[in-house]
Amino acid sequence: MIGDAAHPFLPTSIQGCSQAIEDGVALATLLSLTHTDKQIPDAQKIPSALKIYERLRYDRVKSAQKKGEEVRDMWHKADWEKVRLNPGSIKLPREDWLLKHDCEKFVRRMYKRALAELDGGEKIPITSLAASRESDEFLIEMPPTPVATPKYEVEDPLDTSTSR
Ligand SMILES: Cc1cc2nc3c(=O)[nH]c(=O)nc-3n(C[C@H](O)[C@H](O)[C@H](O)COP(=O)(O)OP(=O)(O)OC[C@H]3O[C@@H](n4cnc5c(N)ncnc54)[C@H](O)[C@@H]3O)c2cc1C
Repeated sequence: MIGDAAHPFLPTSIQGCSQAIEDGVALATLLSLTHTDKQIPDAQKIPSALKIYERLRYDRVKSAQKKGEEVRDMWHKADWEKVRLNPGSIKLPREDWLLKHDCEKFVRRMYKRALAELDGGEKIPITSLAASRESDEFLIEMPPTPVATPKYEVEDPLDTSTSR
């Protein structure tokens, strides 16, 4: 139900573990919310949590997988002449929607709306999840990076102008 068993990732996603952890957070939060929700009959608590879990996680996980495909294509189908002129063009994208998503906050905020949808109510747009790559109201405030990233001079293997 969670992690690689539910949704394997390409290595170029660099997200398998992160999404597995988000899955766990989402599932635990939803099981706890339905457990204490007096409106839900006992026999429906676990099934409701599982349905909402899938509803709230699907788009985000799919977007994260798609990102892995984009990076795979960027690296494996690179035009190395162009990359030589612009080495930054193959840099791994580190996007906020993916890395700073506050999964628990999102699930708690969306719970009632997802439950209503499950009961035949209005279809909810899944906005925070990155499928649209819009700004995400569920971003975590990150502490500043403690150590500055070292800048390495990378040797250009295609550059024959310099003697070795
Ligand atoms: C080289 C490499 C680098 C990676 N780098 C990153 C990264 O930088 N960032 C990131 O987010 N992800 C990364 N990943 C992906 C990440 O490791 C996985 O997505 C993550 O471990 C999935 O966790 P999981 O709990 O779903 O599965 P697993 O970690 O595979 O755990 C499943 C567990 O179930 C056990 N098991 C299997 N069958 C049975 C059974 N029948 N009975 C009992 N136990 C069983 C296994 O032994 C295993 O311990 C990387 C993966 C690899 C291989």
